Amino acid sequence: MSKRLVAIMVLGALVLLAQGKKLPRPGWNLFSKQQDIQLGKEAAAQMEQQLALVDNRELTDYVNRIGQRLVRDGQLEEYPYFFKVVQEDSINAFAFPGGPMYVHTGLMRAAENEAQLAGVLAHELSHVVLRHGTAQVSKAQGFQILAMIGGAALGGGGSMTGALAQLGIGVGLNSALMKYSRNAERDADLLGMHTMARAGYNPLEMARFFEKLEAESGKQNKLVAAFFSSHPSPGSRVKAVEQEIPYLPRSDYGRTEGDLNGMKQTIGRLPAPAKRPQPGAGGGQAGPPPQTDQRPQIQLSGRMRQFQGGGVRFDYPDGWERVGTDQNGVTLAPRGGVVQGQGGSYSLGYGIIASAVAAEGRLNLSRQTQQLLQSLAQNNPGGRVEGRSERITIDRSNALISRMSADSPYRGARESIVVITVDRREQMYYFIFVSPDYDYKRFEPVYQQVTQTIRFQ
Ligand code: ZN
Repeated sequence: MSKRLVAIMVLGALVLLAQGKKLPRPGWNLFSKQQDIQLGKEAAAQMEQQLALVDNRELTDYVNRIGQRLVRDGQLEEYPYFFKVVQEDSINAFAFPGGPMYVHTGLMRAAENEAQLAGVLAHELSHVVLRHGTAQVSKAQGFQILAMIGGAALGGGGSMTGALAQLGIGVGLNSALMKYSRNAERDADLLGMHTMARAGYNPLEMARFFEKLEAESGKQNKLVAAFFSSHPSPGSRVKAVEQEIPYLPRSDYGRTEGDLNGMKQTIGRLPAPAKRPQPGAGGGQAGPPPQTDQRPQIQLSGRMRQFQGGGVRFDYPDGWERVGTDQNGVTLAPRGGVVQGQGGSYSLGYGIIASAVAAEGRLNLSRQTQQLLQSLAQNNPGGRVEGRSERITIDRSNALISRMSADSPYRGARESIVVITVDRREQMYYFIFVSPDYDYKRFEPVYQQVTQTIRFQ
């Protein structure tokens, strides 16, 4: 054997080893990690109104011990994970972006051992860490989603789920957030295997369990249909695990967190759950943005205070308050500047929105600005872009100032919207200033003052 051949073979082996070890990572996503967390929190709260949650410490503690072990020993990225048990016969579990997870009692009963149950949890946790839900929504909706989630919308809902509902995306089990592609399934399986092995669960059990359930679903077993409609099979899972075995960390697979058979008996003794509406219908639809006949008198004291957060600081009028729950950006408005609607939705009549979005690759400021403007115009009643964007400089960074108009939440009035977008390389920061047309002359100098104080950290 020539030296060269040996070198090629060694190289080949190294490449193979590297490929096997390479774990999937989160892909392109228009949502920030904080927005995943916020969305999941809201979706979970909404969903729980329809779920028969199990109020039994023995069962919930057991599932939490398994889940936390997978997170901790599996070295998964930090999220505010929690695990709740749902009294429901179908063999299913599901997780929302940012970590909330729900495990059906039917799944616990169907699992032959703890590793199988842990396998489904590890698979779901992998979807959370890889951010598959919001990645898919990002791809499907493109930049339309930006303005909706970024500013919690001028004239839109004040919540993430409200913003998504305006795009026709609910948070139910059939939502685009929870239906995964085959590629996502393959990645969730792969990360799930490694997570299991690190946490001391045999990954083969995950594959065996999935294949057993798949066989059941082929026999039209309705109890497993829901899982496979949102998690399509990526092909032979047992084979995939067997191929991955050389790259999995070795560990002892014996330890359990409790007695699964005992848990099954406890499940059998649970009282019947109270009747609830059928899950799966999805989130509530947001109506048209709220409007009012009142026109508030907003006073300006001339005093300013400083906002600091998200890598930026700027001055804003004293007495204005934070609106909404968007953790990535901030909306600041005077009292009376926000028109409340039903179900937590609101429209901004006066105020400032500051937020940032990740660039897709290298930031193209004018292109990404146009996408933001189009999205704002589409998602605000009567919205349109006025004239061309002009180049300015904000804290020594290239920026664009653009003007728009839309229907004001103060009925019968139009509003002026000034949008400033700033090129910060990996991110585009944007600042949106809103006021009704009839009051714009009074607010313009204030908004200019705010703009001059913007500093990045
Ligand atoms: Zn899946």
